[in-house]
Amino acid sequence: MTSPVPPLSVSTATDALNRVFGYPAFRGQQGDIVEHVIAGGDALVLMPTGGGKSLCYQIPALVRPGTGVVISPLIALMQDQVDALRTLGVRAGFLNSTQDLDERRLVEAEFVAGELDLLYVAPEGLGTPGVQRLLDRGTISLFAIDEAHCVAQWGHDFRPDYLNLSMLHERWPDVPRIALTATATPATRDEIATRLQLTGARHFTASFDRPNIQYRIVGKNAPSKQLLDLLRSEHAGHCGIVYCLSRASVEKHASFLTENGIPALPYHAGLDARTRAANQARFLREDGLVMVATIAFGMGIDKPDVRFVAHLDLPKSVEGYYQETGRAGRDGLPSTAWLAYGLQDVVQQRKMIDGSDGDAAHRRNAGRHLDAMLALCESVTCRREQLLSYFGQQDTAPTCGNCDVCLNPPESWDGTVPAQKLLSTVFRLQKERGQKFGAGQSIDILTGKRTDKVTQFRHDELTVFGIGADLREAEWRGVVRQLLAGGFLAVEGEYGTLVLTDRSGEVLRGERKLMMRRETAAPKAGRSSGGSRGGSGGRAAAPPVDLPEAAVPVFERLRAWRGSVAKEQGVPAYVIFHDATLRAIAALSPRTMDELGTVSGVGQSKLTKFGQQVLDAVAEAGPE
Ligand code: ADP
Ligand code: ZN
Repeated sequence: MTSPVPPLSVSTATDALNRVFGYPAFRGQQGDIVEHVIAGGDALVLMPTGGGKSLCYQIPALVRPGTGVVISPLIALMQDQVDALRTLGVRAGFLNSTQDLDERRLVEAEFVAGELDLLYVAPEGLGTPGVQRLLDRGTISLFAIDEAHCVAQWGHDFRPDYLNLSMLHERWPDVPRIALTATATPATRDEIATRLQLTGARHFTASFDRPNIQYRIVGKNAPSKQLLDLLRSEHAGHCGIVYCLSRASVEKHASFLTENGIPALPYHAGLDARTRAANQARFLREDGLVMVATIAFGMGIDKPDVRFVAHLDLPKSVEGYYQETGRAGRDGLPSTAWLAYGLQDVVQQRKMIDGSDGDAAHRRNAGRHLDAMLALCESVTCRREQLLSYFGQQDTAPTCGNCDVCLNPPESWDGTVPAQKLLSTVFRLQKERGQKFGAGQSIDILTGKRTDKVTQFRHDELTVFGIGADLREAEWRGVVRQLLAGGFLAVEGEYGTLVLTDRSGEVLRGERKLMMRRETAAPKAGRSSGGSRGGSGGRAAAPPVDLPEAAVPVFERLRAWRGSVAKEQGVPAYVIFHDATLRAIAALSPRTMDELGTVSGVGQSKLTKFGQQVLDAVAEAGPE
């Protein structure tokens, strides 16, 4: 329920940053963006997840007169966002279809009376004459278009309602607009600027590096067990997200984890809306829960302490992969992005693309996205460097020290001859016999296996039969994957059959040497703490606070206190304080309110509300 809240009356951006949010300094380009928007300029902001986009519009909304209108597709999260702002003393409200009429009226009245700093609305709402007339009755300080990549028609999150947002500019030409996204290939950026009529806006592009995330891509052999090993050995008791392609796989793995003592919940579009909302709310509120989900889950989830994101299937694009993995470690503490992938993934995705309803251009586009993802998986160079150069950012060091390739450099070997053997098998089947088969058949032929299918088609009479017995089946699968990743081979059709491409000839004629990743047993990755690299500016997150031994009980006591307050108020724990803030408090073990107020993340409102309780908890758990 809303109670009248006095305005914060902040004078400058820095004042808002220090007093309301409790942060000592702007991060990266935040300060420039905020000043630009306060001065009335339009902005297009590209920043990775966790980079700190929200402050870029929240602070100008506090400083400029009127209400900042935030357009966000994430209806289910608006309540939490508004709760978090209210805890900071910010007067925030939302309008969306989940409200009843009374709630709505109240928010509308607050807006018209000028009693809101921020108003969140869904894009479909903005299209209605009712909401547009309402907005005309109040003062708008700015429009913030969150998740702006939703306007990109070939993107993975396209929302038709976003296309109408160009009308903001026409209807309210004097109100500054700031569009924000974490998806930022140069093509997407241009599409956003054009479609939202933001071509005159100033562009702010942050470094996309997320140094605290350790990227790892492993071969998939027994995915359930591999996942369980990862969670048990490195993420016991942690909160994380496991992405699966299909609903069935989501259900299966959620049960599997639960049976193995790891609390997990399913999330996919096949569950009814109430179950989905309940599972999401539990994930946000409880510690140590694992969400097993399709990609329907996660956009805008700003839970800061997600410690791992695991993919059990190949993502459809590098953009999608980067966005999904980006949900890990928003608080800047070390986190893992782990992906298990195998040949079957490629075949399956190809099948989905070929069988999709889209036109030829759409399929070509999807195919290109898949190829880029494959290239990342099969890469023998630093994953981070690959990712960043994909996003047009070449200024990074060639090794990051915090990805599987840097930690355990894969051995490479000259795979040119095996590649030729494989391609000539496909060639013989295709050209001599007019047949197309999946990878399994070619591998059986090469390794000289007389399976029923081999004898039935008399493939044991081919000259290539048995010429590849020197490699194991797993190695052959690796050869196929790497040929696919390089575009020297393709899969097509319902059965995922292998076919030659325009580039196969280069390998067959010996014009190309192919260095391949050696298939190794699961590498044991060392854990380096994030944020330790020098170099690239615009750092996504502050380095984690290392907790001295003596502060651990204080941290645990604070966590317990936070849990009970969050429960009492019905909000996620991070709305009270983030883990990173609790750690900093524990490390400092303050005795006075003044001391507590110096901790990053402790603003004025939280100090007043929770300060004494925090000091009591610290005193109880502290030494002596
Ligand atoms: P994004 O929307 O870009 O994913 P958020 O706006 O949610 O990122 O910010 C990520 C985290 O970083 C949040 O916990 C936020 O409170 C914190 N944060 C943002 N800006 C600063 C800053 N200048 N100093 C300290 N913490 C910050
Ligand atoms: Zn690396």
